[in-house]
Amino acid sequence: MLVVMKSGATQGEIDGVVQAVENLGFRAHVMPGATRTAIGITGNQGSVDPIRFESLPGVSEAIRVSKPYKLITLDLQPDQTVVRVGDATIGGQELAVIAGPCAVESRQQTFAVAAAVRASGARFLRGGAFKPRSSPYDFAGLGEEGLKILADARDAFGLKIVTEALDESGVDLLEKYADIIQVGARNMQNFSLLRRVGKSKLPVLLKRGIAATIDEWLLAAEYIMSEGNYQVVLCERGVRTFTQHARNALDLAAIPVIRRISHLPIVVDASHAAGKSHLVRPLARAGVAAGADGIMVEVHNNPEAALCDGAQALTPEEYLKLVSEARGIHQLLAQAVDT
Ligand code: PEP
Ligand code: MN
Repeated sequence: MLVVMKSGATQGEIDGVVQAVENLGFRAHVMPGATRTAIGITGNQGSVDPIRFESLPGVSEAIRVSKPYKLITLDLQPDQTVVRVGDATIGGQELAVIAGPCAVESRQQTFAVAAAVRASGARFLRGGAFKPRSSPYDFAGLGEEGLKILADARDAFGLKIVTEALDESGVDLLEKYADIIQVGARNMQNFSLLRRVGKSKLPVLLKRGIAATIDEWLLAAEYIMSEGNYQVVLCERGVRTFTQHARNALDLAAIPVIRRISHLPIVVDASHAAGKSHLVRPLARAGVAAGADGIMVEVHNNPEAALCDGAQALTPEEYLKLVSEARGIHQLLAQAVDT
């Protein structure tokens, strides 16, 4: 159920609807918009009679939601969500750039990459302290020590930190050190983790699962939002197909498809889609051309020596080139294309 308030509805009238929803044992999600406030209702197992709400003061209409998602949709919030970390944004006018090494390996390595990220004008530094590795024998990250290095890099370079939590205890730690919690592709349907990050005050970057449909991905975002955290960024990072020439197949169509359904921002991670560094720039450029709100890129100061994903890491020089190309495309779109 979705309750749309009249454009001039008062705070008291909005509170009245929230109270009525809670009296029924359901949860109300208030989404203020430019022209009107909408209130999403979750927690009801069966359908709720719209009449219950339509008679309340300030209500314009109450609509039954037949789609599987209630909170990620443009029906609830026609204005795009802008995820904010201080003055840095994802989903606003500016192309968001989230860059850094696959894994935090050392202070020296992280600071060297952070300097390049800073020089590019990007606002977000990425880097894993807890790495989901396919083999149990591979480097799995420095853990809390890695988070401390990231937090120091934040202070030294004025960047916001995006890093992955593999489990609920990882979220507790990230809340001390990071700015955005990444939920990785392998964890996209880890529902207890989704509920935990949904209770966090930090925004969440939700990667698409390795073989997830758009609906499964959006429902994963819905899990997070249903717990009250509306600061969610979607990240397309390629899906598994018969493709052998790249690590994954970057699903560019996902970007305009999601735009039609959801108000959530979407960024494109060309690095994990590509798997090879020479594919990263063209794919990232294509993602921006398809309408992505930002790019995520893996960068390493010495890719040959990287402990994780070296083959897809850009050198600082390649990365700087990509950022200027991506910004050029983004600007062109803002001026010329009515998306
Ligand atoms: C990563 O961003 O380092 C990562 C592990 O990505 P994904 O979850 O998309 O594989
Ligand atoms: Mn990686």
